[in-house]
Amino acid sequence: MGIVLDLDLPAPALTAQLCDLASPSGEEGPLADAVEAALRSLGHLTVHRDGDTVVARTALGRPTRVVLAGHLDTVPVAANLPTRLDDGVLWGRGTVDMKGGVAVGLRLAAHVPAPASDVTYVFYDNEEVEAERNGLGRVARQHPDWLAADFAVLMEPSSAAVEGGCNGTLRVAVQLTGTAAHSARWWMGSNAIHAAGPVLQRLAEYRPATVTVDGLDYREGLNAVGISGGIAGNVIPDRCEVTVNYRFAPSHTEAEALDHVRQVFDGYDVRLLDTAPGARPGLDRPVAAAFVAAVGGEPRAKVGWTDVARFDALGVPAVNYGPGDPQLAHADDERVHVAEIEACEARLRAWLAA
Ligand SMILES: [Zn+2]
Repeated sequence: MGIVLDLDLPAPALTAQLCDLASPSGEEGPLADAVEAALRSLGHLTVHRDGDTVVARTALGRPTRVVLAGHLDTVPVAANLPTRLDDGVLWGRGTVDMKGGVAVGLRLAAHVPAPASDVTYVFYDNEEVEAERNGLGRVARQHPDWLAADFAVLMEPSSAAVEGGCNGTLRVAVQLTGTAAHSARWWMGSNAIHAAGPVLQRLAEYRPATVTVDGLDYREGLNAVGISGGIAGNVIPDRCEVTVNYRFAPSHTEAEALDHVRQVFDGYDVRLLDTAPGARPGLDRPVAAAFVAAVGGEPRAKVGWTDVARFDALGVPAVNYGPGDPQLAHADDERVHVAEIEACEARLRAWLAA
C-alpha cells in the first residue's frame, strides 16, 4: 500500500503532496501507482497504464476530445525537498516543472465529471531525460489510440500564458580535412582547423529568419555549438569538425531544414547528427481558438522544443499552458506562486465546462 493522494485537497496543497513524493526520472513508480489508484477510484474515467504512464479518459460520446497532459518526473532533487510554503509561494523541486500542472490535471479529472468535450488525461514518465525513454513517445508508438484527440494542452510551466507550437531542431557536423605534418615542417601539411575559418564566417554572417506560422512568430537560429580538432601540440591537424545547431520554424519539415543547412554550407561535407520536428501551433483551428478565448491572454510562440511536437506528429495540435515561471524550472530555488496554480485550475475548469 503506497501513499494515497487526496484529490479534494486544494491544488496548491495537492502540488505540495505530489512534490514531497520525490520522483526524479526513472523513479516515478510510487507516484504513478498513487496517481493510478486515485484515478481508478473515480467512476467516470477509464484508466490505462503503460510503464509509469497513466492515461484516464472520459467516454461521454462528445463530438470533440481534448488531452490534458503532464509529466510525473522531475530533474534530481537538490536539497530542495520537502516543499515549504512561505507567504503564498511554494518552494521546492517540482513546484514549477511540473507538479503544479499535474495537480491541476488531477483536480480536473476528479471534479469535472461531465466536461463539454471528452477529456483524456495523460500523466507520463521520463520527460527530463533522453528522448528514447520519454513515456509520451512510448505511448505514441505503442498505443496511439490512447492519445487520439482534436487538441492537446501540455501543462508545462508557461507563467499561465498560452505558448503555441515549437521550433524544430537539427544538428549537423561540418567536417574539414587537411594533411597531417609535424608543425616544425608545417609547409608539408594542410591545416584542417584553418579550413574551418570560412565555415565560421558563414555562420557569423548568417541572418536567421523570423517566420510567422498560424499567427505566431518563430525566431530561427543557426549557430555553432561545438568545434573539435587537433591531436597534439606539435602536429598540423588533418581533421576538424564544427557542430552546428539549426532551430527552424514549424512551417518547415526536417528534410527542408536539412536542405537549407546543406545550401548554407555548399561545398562542404555536412553530416546529419540528429533531428526533431517542430510543431505548428494550430491556433487557426476552432478548438484551439476556443481554448485561447476561454483562458485569455495573448498567445506567444514557444521558444524551446517540447513534447507538443509529439502530439503534432500524431495530427493533434497542442499548446503549452501551465502554472509556474519556466525560467525557474530545474533551478535549486524552484518556486511558484500558489495563486497561479489556482488561476490555471479555474481557467481550465471554465474551458472544460464551456
Ligand atoms: Zn517539464
